[in-house]
Amino acid sequence: MTKKAFQAESRRLLDLMIHSIYTHREIFLRELISNASDAMDKMYYRALTDDQIPFHKDDYLIDIHIDKENRSLRIVDHGIGMTKEELEENLGTIAKSGSQSFKETNEIRDGYDIIGQFGVGFYSAFMVADKVTVLTKSPDSETAYRWESEGTDGYTIEETHKDAHGTEITLIIKENDEEESYDDYLENDRIRQIIKKYSDFIRYPIRLEEETV
Ligand code: ADP
Ligand code: MG
Repeated sequence: MTKKAFQAESRRLLDLMIHSIYTHREIFLRELISNASDAMDKMYYRALTDDQIPFHKDDYLIDIHIDKENRSLRIVDHGIGMTKEELEENLGTIAKSGSQSFKETNEIRDGYDIIGQFGVGFYSAFMVADKVTVLTKSPDSETAYRWESEGTDGYTIEETHKDAHGTEITLIIKENDEEESYDDYLENDRIRQIIKKYSDFIRYPIRLEEETV
């Protein structure tokens, strides 16, 4: 499996995400939940307008799972997912909206205020994770794909199987270091608190270990 390099701009943003000493790392979850919600908006619309696609309202929720033993945090949605081309385009290069405005702000010093102001998007996952895996399936594709990256050195994409459309994002949470404790992001209470703080307005139910937050 060949490893592809990120586009230069994406790599710079990633570097900043990974290395800036930043106190609001918790916003990564807001970003991932907002992406899940966007993806479900797209799927919702699709299901309502395409007779070929069944519509089950109860499918539209976001599930979050914590696995302390494996240091993993997983965000599962039932949204539109991504084809292979979309994966390349969306996660291999810098995104257009939030991250773009971030990039255009040239006054990035330590990334402090700017990160709070803009949606910084998917790459913010690397503020708390050593490795990010995206398992995704589009309703337009028979095949599912696994995108995986440990940060700046690039990403891989391989074919895999997944029954339903949607996306599962798994973060392997960093080990604590002298500056930062990451173990918190594997605590149910802490994750619940972050969801409450930033994602109260999301119109789909968010469940943490089967319990609606
Ligand atoms: P933005 O949300 O501002 O476009 P992001 O960096 O957050 O930027 O995400 C980049 C793109 O990756 C999104 O626009 C979307 O196309 C795709 N993406 C990210 N997460 C998901 C997801 N859970 N389901 C489907 N597509 C996603
Ligand atoms: Mg986003």
